[in-house]
Order: sequence, then C-alpha cells, then structure tokens
Amino acid sequence: MSLELVKCGMCGKATVVEQGERCVCSVCLEEERILYVRVRTLLRDNEESRLTIKDVAEMLEIDERKITHLVDSGYFKLALHGLRPND
Ligand SMILES: [Zn+2]
Repeated sequence: MSLELVKCGMCGKATVVEQGERCVCSVCLEEERILYVRVRTLLRDNEESRLTIKDVAEMLEIDERKITHLVDSGYFKLALHGLRPND
C-alpha cells in the first residue's frame, strides 16, 4: 500500500491516506459516520421525494460539500440518481 496526499472531503484539510481509501482525515472519520446515518435516515423518510444534494444539505443544515463528499465516496449508490440534480 502506498500513501497519497489528498484533501479531506469533510473539512478540506490536506491529509494522508492509503491509496484507494476514502478521502477523509482521521479527525472527520467520526463526523462522517454520523453524517452518513443522518443522511441515510433522511433519504429513507423521504423516499418519494427526489431530494438533491442541496435539499439534503439544507434540511440537515450541513455544508453541501460534505453531502457531495459522501455521495462521491460511494455512499448512497441507490439514491444517487435522485441526489444529483443534473444526472
Ligand atoms: Zn477532515
């Protein structure tokens, strides 16, 4: 495994991760996990409405960038279609 320098998807700070790992620093790992559960619950409770990343960010009052990070990290594959406004 080689290491690479990436930008943390949550806080934007530079961090070193193993190649192929998700781009999140150790400080944000816990926050990412909690955020994932919150978004997952929100999506489940709003299955019929096609929420975009912006909708989710506004409803949870969370930085839109963090929601995008979760989607880009491969979470919410099933909901991805509804999350991306322009797909
Ligand atoms: Zn971070």
